[in-house]
Amino acid sequence: MAESLTGIAASKGIAIAKAFVLEQPDMDIQRKTTDDSQEEIGRFNEAVKKSKNELLAIKEKTYKEMGEDKAEIFSAHLLVLEDPEIVDGVSSKISEENVNAEFAMKEISDTFVAMFESMENEYMKERAADIRDVSKRVLLHLLGMENTNLALIDEETVVIAEDLTPSDTAQLNLEYIRGFATDIGGRTSHSAIMARSMEIPAVVGTKNVTSTVKTGDLVIIDGMEGEVVLHPDDNTIAAFKERLEEFNKQKQEWAKLINEPSVTTDDHRVELAANIGTPGDMEGVLSNGAEGIGLYRTEFLYMGRDELPTEEEQFEAYKEVLSRMEGRPVVIRTLDIGGDKELPYLNLPKELNPFLGFRAIRLCLEETDMFKTQLRALLRASAFGNLKIMFPMVASVEEVRQAKKILEAVKEDLIKEGIDVSEKVEVGIMVEIPSTAVAADIFAKEVDFFSIGTNDLIQYTMAADRMSEKVAHLYQPYHPAILRLIKNVIDAAHKEGKWAGMCGEMAGEETAVPLLLGLGLDEFSMSATSVLPARSQLRKISRSEAEKLANEAIQLSTADEVEELVSSKGFILS
Ligand code: PEP
Ligand code: MG
Repeated sequence: MAESLTGIAASKGIAIAKAFVLEQPDMDIQRKTTDDSQEEIGRFNEAVKKSKNELLAIKEKTYKEMGEDKAEIFSAHLLVLEDPEIVDGVSSKISEENVNAEFAMKEISDTFVAMFESMENEYMKERAADIRDVSKRVLLHLLGMENTNLALIDEETVVIAEDLTPSDTAQLNLEYIRGFATDIGGRTSHSAIMARSMEIPAVVGTKNVTSTVKTGDLVIIDGMEGEVVLHPDDNTIAAFKERLEEFNKQKQEWAKLINEPSVTTDDHRVELAANIGTPGDMEGVLSNGAEGIGLYRTEFLYMGRDELPTEEEQFEAYKEVLSRMEGRPVVIRTLDIGGDKELPYLNLPKELNPFLGFRAIRLCLEETDMFKTQLRALLRASAFGNLKIMFPMVASVEEVRQAKKILEAVKEDLIKEGIDVSEKVEVGIMVEIPSTAVAADIFAKEVDFFSIGTNDLIQYTMAADRMSEKVAHLYQPYHPAILRLIKNVIDAAHKEGKWAGMCGEMAGEETAVPLLLGLGLDEFSMSATSVLPARSQLRKISRSEAEKLANEAIQLSTADEVEELVSSKGFILS
């Protein structure tokens, strides 16, 4: 049996190639005294200049190949090199202490890295990673060393690294890089997100892949199972090649469906839409044939920065997405911050139970200036496409009424100002709190549509934290209680002539698709890469069969029984 390491499956696919282990350059930095501090400052300024030029080039390349939001990472890096606390700090240290530039740079950057790392929230931790990345670049110039140039790799390779910094990932030459594996990171780390947008297999968080694999070793990266296989024997290679071939064949089959309708064998049509986080995700949406955007999580516009985004910035982002969808539906969700998503600059009080606390619509209804700015940007953008506005974390009808009242007021202001606003903007809510799911008939009278947020609905219904490994066994999408809530929501919407969608992860799962179809779901919104597999599955099943399946499933006692039923009836086709 071949040896293997397990990590987190970060990006789908299988890569079989020789490893290139990205070594951390040995930067042994000593304190030296200098009698010419001006010369040291000159060397430092020169290194900063070279680093800036490199970063501008990487930013440009990233912008072209991966879009604006990924390129923004390098704007953050450039800002580090313009931060007076860092740049002037190094120069002052050189002249005040008569030390060499390398030592001054390392001391100053270590201080800032330690400061940001000790902070609790993710945004600040990421700033530490930015400073470390930039400081390494400057130090390599000062030491006259080469930054390992991943762009120079010219044979089929998988990259093995402790972590891949954004600058490393941007340099990967996709002609030769087949995939990568890292020691650290999670599904939402920079490297994982980049891998998915580059569509190369990746496994992150293996803990010790760099100490186990050597450059030149043959390895297999299985981005579906989150596995790295070392020194595979011929049989193992053959088995993985077969799986890869299967996967590629399937992808080719799916690709043929890009312009086909999402229709069942008995001619029932549904909408398969995609979830996005930024306009940069639009490439994937279009290349995977999504029929709409079922969820645009706007919180990313607010994250990774020091202050609220302006109305203009938001308008531009919303307009871009709406225009690129050319009249197809785009559901944009208003700010859903709180819980696991923090905004340090809002200085919100720490809470014992942030998932049950002051967040999302609750926050927006109090911070009305912030809310109105977003609604203005949304309504202005509505003139450029088919916008639907969605409020998150709704628990009571009063919240819906209040939010709609603010929306109306904002609309009136815009009209008074002579600004174009679409007359057809639908307003809906996320159904992700059990109170709303149970009383869906009441809510259905107040809104144009529902989108079921199962990611949260499951955690609140089962009282099982979606982030906790310890209670993961209770986080059950196929629990009869969840299926019954979903049915209740869909039926309530239809009774009022409204439509019901789902934008939780469940919508794209192979077991869920036939059940949701049978329960009458109108719109399924999922990660873009799941759209074609789901379309392929839908086109092979009939709605009437799916209805029978769903009716049977909601009578069962356990989630396991439901999953067995779906598979025993032949609805799982891959
Ligand atoms: C959900 O809760 O299902 C959802 C789609 O929203 P998020 O994952 O952003 O909480
Ligand atoms: Mg949610």
